Amino acid sequence: MANPVIFSIDDDPMVLNAVERDLRAHYGQDYRIIPINQGQAALDYLKKMKQRDEMVALFLVDQRMPGMTGIEFLNQAMEIYPEAKRVLLTAYADTEAAIASINDIGLDYYLMKPWHPPHEKLYPVLDELLEDWKAHTHRPFEGIRIIGALWSATSHQAKEFLTRHQIPYRWLDVDHDAGARKMIEEMGSTAGKFPVITFTDGSILIDPDLKALAEKVGLHTRAGLPSYDLAIIGSGPAGLAAAVYASSDGVHTLVVEKAAPGGQAGSSPKIENFFGFPSGISGDDLTRRAVSQAKRFGAEILSAQAARKISVRDSYRIVELEDGTEISCRVVLIATGASFHVLNTPGAAGLTGTGIYYGAAYTEAMNFKEKDVFVVGGANSAGQAAMYLSRFARKVSVLIRGPQPAASKYLYDALIANEKIEILLNTDLMEVRGEGKLEEVIVKDTATGESRVLKGDAMFVFIGVRPQSDMVADLVERSAKGHILTGSSLLQEGKRPKGWTLERDPYLLETSVPGIFAAGDVRMGATPRVASAVGEGAIAHALIKEYLKTV
Ligand SMILES: Cc1cc2nc3c(=O)[nH]c(=O)nc-3n(C[C@H](O)[C@H](O)[C@H](O)COP(=O)(O)OP(=O)(O)OC[C@H]3O[C@@H](n4cnc5c(N)ncnc54)[C@H](O)[C@@H]3O)c2cc1C
Repeated sequence: MANPVIFSIDDDPMVLNAVERDLRAHYGQDYRIIPINQGQAALDYLKKMKQRDEMVALFLVDQRMPGMTGIEFLNQAMEIYPEAKRVLLTAYADTEAAIASINDIGLDYYLMKPWHPPHEKLYPVLDELLEDWKAHTHRPFEGIRIIGALWSATSHQAKEFLTRHQIPYRWLDVDHDAGARKMIEEMGSTAGKFPVITFTDGSILIDPDLKALAEKVGLHTRAGLPSYDLAIIGSGPAGLAAAVYASSDGVHTLVVEKAAPGGQAGSSPKIENFFGFPSGISGDDLTRRAVSQAKRFGAEILSAQAARKISVRDSYRIVELEDGTEISCRVVLIATGASFHVLNTPGAAGLTGTGIYYGAAYTEAMNFKEKDVFVVGGANSAGQAAMYLSRFARKVSVLIRGPQPAASKYLYDALIANEKIEILLNTDLMEVRGEGKLEEVIVKDTATGESRVLKGDAMFVFIGVRPQSDMVADLVERSAKGHILTGSSLLQEGKRPKGWTLERDPYLLETSVPGIFAAGDVRMGATPRVASAVGEGAIAHALIKEYLKTV
């Protein structure tokens, strides 16, 4: 398979030559650099490349070209290569057009001319975009293969796990791939168990649990030491931010994650409103950066390990893991966030993972190319998923129960402008039907009372979240819904919480038990935003440092 391509398009020969030279110097070994001096010629070339099944990783296009502007080019190019990263080369005067196109064409970056020195201005930007492209592109390669079926929930679980850990794999669907069926037959009897996962060393796992899969791919599932200064439960934005700050300050930190790092944010195809990223950043790109940063400072991160119970033993806090292991530490930070509400609509439970997915638009979108899919929910998370799915699906119907969506205006405008997206307001989901896979849904118009049947192949559900705090249910004070109370919300008429022994009030993010802190969406009163969670993680570290001085 030929190397993927970086396309550079510019009508000015001097600029085109200079871009080509800089791209070749840095990326020439891993990518083919194709310079073209005209938008239409580049589009014609792209169509031929597509027929030959060649891959395009990135477009670097000048905005100012006669006949076709850079934005117009990218608009058409993304129809052919929706996954390729899009960078616009602009003059200062084009800045407004570039910013406007962030929404219209999903521009990843606009780069101001001149881009010299490239080591400072060009390569860092393109390196990150190409890393992100690599992480999301299912490239043919001789690595892990997951052989399964779309109707197999355990196949979905394995794919989601590897995707969220950004471990490349090749997906082979037995229903559409004769080669995959043959491989299964040749492997002998698996009694229809899926997925079958093959590795380069020749070993095979059949329908493994996540811990076995994690161990096989080299993730840490066991703590290296019996005790730490700080144990952080959960590696969403709050947990990872705390891990970065704590470990960079020399606090000996363990992070325990029951699934994969990134939390809810990791399932977001594009976080548009995170400070400092004008073109948005995908949840797993943000996660990848945060995980590398935390590890670089020495934090240890366990995957596929849930904390089952937290308890207090003398001056130690004990974290009991699901496999029975106990880890002792001086402080615990609970950053377990929230998990998706599941549908209780008739028919939905049996199709979970086999056509109905919770927050998994990223993992499954490619499997529904040219298919009709539903998104349930009207908030930003649903809107982001609809936008992402529209890159692949033929049609995306967004089912919103109320008369108005709750999504931000910028996102709603983008949804309305997207021809593949249909928004159905006042629409109640009544029933989900399908034999082993989703086939159709019954919806009711809450304004007219009229019911109708809609055909579709998959449903992505975003109907809110609930806090995950069961591991401290008997230990710290929580709200009726399970949010953990911290700081001043624990003081009733100025009185400290029951059992509180210290001569001070609980710190801002401290729970009703000294030395146990909470940050992010799991905490009562938190604002459910990536930036807020990151901020709380950072504040938690500052408070934990104060606490550690006293024990
Ligand atoms: C699809 C989607 C899109 C979103 N888009 C945006 C956006 O664009 N902008 C924005 O600001 N916000 C967005 N949000 C909200 C934002 O992602 C959350 O507010 C943020 O992730 C909360 O961070 P957190 O660290 O508190 O918790 P979470 O992100 O929920 O992370 C908690 C982590 O703890 C782990 N965990 C839970 N229980 C245990 C246990 N017992 N043991 C070990 N680990 C455990 C979970 O597996 C998870 O990884 C979005 C949310 C979703 C779902």
